[in-house]
Amino acid sequence: MTKIVPQPGIMDIALYEGGKSKVEGVSNVIKLSSNENPFGPSPAAQEAVKRSVHELHRYPSTDHAELRNAIAEVHGLNADQIICGVGSDEIITFLCQAYAGPGDEVIHTEHGFAMYRISTLAAGATPVEVKERERVTDVDSILEACTERTRLVFIANPNNPTGTMIGMAEVERLAEGLPEQCLLVLDGAYAEYVEGYDGGAKLVDMRDNVVMTRTFSKLYGLGGLRVGWGYAPREVIDVLGRIRGPFNLSSTALAAAEASVRDLAFAEKCRDENTRLRAWLSEALAEHGVPTDTSTANFVLARFGSQQEAEDCDNYLQTQGLIVRRVAGYKLPNCLRITVGDEASCRRVAYCIGQFKAGAR
Ligand SMILES: *Cc1c(COP(=O)(O)O)cnc(C)c1O
Repeated sequence: MTKIVPQPGIMDIALYEGGKSKVEGVSNVIKLSSNENPFGPSPAAQEAVKRSVHELHRYPSTDHAELRNAIAEVHGLNADQIICGVGSDEIITFLCQAYAGPGDEVIHTEHGFAMYRISTLAAGATPVEVKERERVTDVDSILEACTERTRLVFIANPNNPTGTMIGMAEVERLAEGLPEQCLLVLDGAYAEYVEGYDGGAKLVDMRDNVVMTRTFSKLYGLGGLRVGWGYAPREVIDVLGRIRGPFNLSSTALAAAEASVRDLAFAEKCRDENTRLRAWLSEALAEHGVPTDTSTANFVLARFGSQQEAEDCDNYLQTQGLIVRRVAGYKLPNCLRITVGDEASCRRVAYCIGQFKAGAR
C-alpha cells in the first residue's frame, strides 16, 4: 500500500468547505452563506429545464454553440473565444492543468478564492500568496511576486470574500507589467452585480495575456446546475478546448443557461434589488457598530472586534436560524461574510446582529 501514493501536491490540498445549509434543531433556516440569488433561477430558465426533460435520452451538444452564441450576443463578444465549463471552477481547473505544472508558480491574493490554490496544487504547481492592502487587491505586490516561473495570476474582481474591487486602470497596469510567459485570469463571478462593468472582456480583446471567467451560479441563480464560461484569446481557447471533456455540460444545464442569459429583465431586477438591499444592510450593520468594506458584489464582509466576537455572533445567529459564512480559512478570522438575501432576510440578519451587539447570546 505504501507505494500507492498520489502525485506531489495533492495531499497539501485542504478539502473545500461549502457554506453550511443546516442548523441542528432549527427548522426554516435562512441561508446567507453561499452568495446564492434569493430570487432563485429566472422563470425562463425553469421552463427550459422542464422542456429539456423530454430529450434526456440524447447526448448533449459538444460544441455548446447555442449557449456560446447567446452569451456572445448578449455581452457583445466573439462566440469562438468562449469556452463553457462545469461552473467557472472547471475553467479555473483547465487553466491550471494546461498552463501550470511542477516547478511553476501560480499567484493568488491573500484573501483570494479557495479554488485557485486547490487547482494549482492539483496540477502539481506551487501556489504563491500575495498580500492585499486593507482587503483590496494590490497590483504592486503581485508584480513584485512575479518570477520567471510564474505562469498564472488569479484575481477575482469583485473579490470574494472581501467584496472589494480595483478599477480597470489598475487591472490594465497589472496585465501590462506581467512577465511574458504569464496569463492574467480575471474571475468575474460577481461582475454582473456591477452596473456598466464588462468583467474585463474588452481587455481580453485588446491583449493576448488576459482571460476572463464568468458564472451562472450567482446573479443567474443556477448554482445547482453548474455552468460557467471563459472568454480568452483564440490561442488559449484552442488549448483549453483540448482538455475539456466533450460532454462536460448536460443538455439541461445548457438549455437553462441559455434561457437565463437571454432573460435581461430578470437579471436587471436581481441586480437592482441587490444594490438597494446591500446599501441598506451595510448601513444597518454600521448603526450596530459593525463596519463593512464597500461591497460591489452580492454579499458584505462584516468586521468584528475579534475572532471570538465573530464566532460568538455566528453562533447566536445560528440559534436564530440564520446561516452566514465564517471566513477564518480566508485569513479573515474576525469577519463574517453575509449574503445579501431578500428584504426580509436582510432585515432579520441586521436585527439579530443588533440584538447580539446589545448583549444577546
Ligand atoms: C462563486 C465563485 C465562483 C464560481 O463558481 P462556479 O464554479 O461557477 O459555481 C468563482 N469565483 C469566485 C470568486 C466565486 O465566488
